[in-house]
Amino acid sequence: MTHTVAIPEISVVIPVYNEEESLPLLAAEIHGALRPLGRPYEVIYVDDGSTDGTPGVLLELAREDPATRVIRQRRNSGQTAALDAGFRFARGAVVVTLDADLQNDPADIPRLLAAMDDGYDVVSGVRARRRDTWVRKASSRIANGVRNRLTHDKVTDVGCTLRACRIEPLRGIPMFTGMHRFLPTLLAMAGARKTEIPVNHRPRLHGQPKYNISNRLWRALADLFAVRWMRKRWIDRRLSEEIDVWHTRSGSSSDSSARPSSSAASSSSGSPPSAASGASSRGPSGT
Ligand code: UDP
Ligand code: MG
Repeated sequence: MTHTVAIPEISVVIPVYNEEESLPLLAAEIHGALRPLGRPYEVIYVDDGSTDGTPGVLLELAREDPATRVIRQRRNSGQTAALDAGFRFARGAVVVTLDADLQNDPADIPRLLAAMDDGYDVVSGVRARRRDTWVRKASSRIANGVRNRLTHDKVTDVGCTLRACRIEPLRGIPMFTGMHRFLPTLLAMAGARKTEIPVNHRPRLHGQPKYNISNRLWRALADLFAVRWMRKRWIDRRLSEEIDVWHTRSGSSSDSSARPSSSAASSSSGSPPSAASGASSRGPSGT
């Protein structure tokens, strides 16, 4: 539990499945990257039902540092479910995600956050020189191409988990197993402004990769058609706004008796003039 820690601005969310050897160095690198920024942050490890020493290592990390939290999935549920759990528990307005296996470099986080400060809702890393086998690189390249064509999007590297995102749009998109491969596309559908920056990538030194072509290809393809369908059927919530009935001039100047009278029941649902402007969407836009 975090006790006397400032409310974090930034929540770092890390899905973890059997990564015991990588965690101590990862934690040190994250603190090394974030502490100098002087902004309150928390680090949320989501243990996705690990069966190695991960739970013990995470407990230790959290006991050493009050800004570190551990969420545990009762059984292995997959990377997206772990990320989703992290998003639900996160308290920061901005979430940074990265893998636990040290392939992503926490030293890139300050640049992601700087791009967020330029007004973006999501900043995705693009692994400039990817340190994986050629089979993985080739299959990703094909997958990215097909995905972009079918979703009418332009995401250079969906496989890169290193990202920063405002929590609000994240909470407005549908979550499903496999969603992590479509996160920027779904966020864009929800109206998020997105950009990409090149990031470092390192070879996996410890633990096993959790995906291979056979467990990735068919599921990702099925998900792709689901996202394509979603794009067609998307409900654009930005189009809804509450009318400020007392300050809007239009034809019907008629009668105030139709309004909820100032009886007891109307006190909360009646007219919130000041809240209305703050809660309304950021103006007309989108399709
Ligand atoms: N992961 C997880 N649950 C799973 C599979 C993976 O939480 O069922 C985590 C894993 O520990 C790592 C991240 O998701 O932190 C990405 O996994 P991996 O490195 O194997 O994927 P790749 O780099 O090959 O895309
Ligand atoms: Mg990896």
